[in-house]
Amino acid sequence: MEGTYSRMEIGIVSTGDELLRGAIADTNAAWMAARVFERGLMVRRVATVGDDLADLTRAFEGAIASFDLAIVTGGLGPTDDDLTSQAAAAAIGVRLARSDEAAIQVRAAFERIGRPMLDLNLKQADLPEGAQVLENPAGTAPGFALRTLRGRIVFLPGVPHEMRAMFERHVMPLLPETVRHRAVFKCFGMGESNIQDALRPVAKARPALRFGYRASFPEIGVSVTAKDAAALEEARVAVRAALGRAVFAQDDIDLPTALVRALAARGLTFGAAESCTGGLVGHCITEVPGASACFRGSVVAYDNAVKTGILGVAAAFIESRGAVSEEVARAMAEGARRALGADVGIGITGIAGPDGGSAEKPVGLVHMAVADSRGAAHRSHVWKGFDRARVKRAAAWTAMSMALGRISEDR
Ligand code: ATP
Ligand code: MG
Repeated sequence: MEGTYSRMEIGIVSTGDELLRGAIADTNAAWMAARVFERGLMVRRVATVGDDLADLTRAFEGAIASFDLAIVTGGLGPTDDDLTSQAAAAAIGVRLARSDEAAIQVRAAFERIGRPMLDLNLKQADLPEGAQVLENPAGTAPGFALRTLRGRIVFLPGVPHEMRAMFERHVMPLLPETVRHRAVFKCFGMGESNIQDALRPVAKARPALRFGYRASFPEIGVSVTAKDAAALEEARVAVRAALGRAVFAQDDIDLPTALVRALAARGLTFGAAESCTGGLVGHCITEVPGASACFRGSVVAYDNAVKTGILGVAAAFIESRGAVSEEVARAMAEGARRALGADVGIGITGIAGPDGGSAEKPVGLVHMAVADSRGAAHRSHVWKGFDRARVKRAAAWTAMSMALGRISEDR
């Protein structure tokens, strides 16, 4: 293979009226493009087509002619607007026929989820003749692939988690094996453009490296791919230096996972006292397998009576400083340690909005504290222009990042 990047031409076709109506964003295409890029390839084009048989057929014909590998998502379901199989058959010039193999998979999928199967659901097993059936481990509609003159066209369901599972299983093996070395830096607390700015000199001095950015609010992942391992190791040091404390993991993991691992590695326990985040920290921590080794619990102390009663926050603090204040955040973090018997506690209290702000304490203001046996640290921030959900997420992440910083000596 010549050069670093293979010449396989890859195109994506995203289908569905919801995409054209703007009802949903095309996260499928973005996700697949990032996976392809991580492999050292780049998607050539992404097309979006509505649920119209003629449009779909034309789009598939075009993709078959233009790409070695065309990937289509959506429209594999049993409803009338699911026309993908029909259009695929028309584009390739074959009939649609019931696939026994696909029918078995559809039946098995319904058994797995314990739901009765309707006759209608077997429509999902009507595939273009000669199609290779692709098992769907996460849903009921199997995918399929067709050989084309240039290579293949692959059809995956639209539901993102099904699409992702099937992409990993059925599409990744089709991508050429370019030998790549890859490092991932997960960052928090630095915007995407600031990260790119900080890395510009690093990237400029190393033109052979590929930098990729993936944001999943409020985290940003930076991936660096290189042809040889030594170049990657050298770059790793430079990237670390450029991004500094924004990097919370050199691994493709989220912040809650990094926190759980750091706690577990040190044999520490953790607890939270959450007001405006309403248990979000607890939720995110319990998403991490193995969290039970370190997570004691989270008190959702929304009402002041819970802050005083369960967490032991002095009513006088709330009176004099207000529930959203440094003093209360610190006392909540201490209270979480005490009430939950945790080594490390965090406290979060803020105004998530859209109402409840004042000139002195605007919407988006959050006080966060972390406490351990050595004392407590506090930080406050005003997330201007963030809606409620984003304020909650940003605050939860900041508090978890403070906890991680506190227990990691080297940060
Ligand atoms: P189903 O069997 O559920 O009907 P399907 O293969 O027919 O699956 P669609 O009906 O096209 O897929 O999409 C199902 C859902 O998946 C959509 O309502 C939408 O929420 C989501 N979805 C579809 N395409 C995309 C996309 N490109 N990006 C993000 N989400 C998508
Ligand atoms: Mg559908």
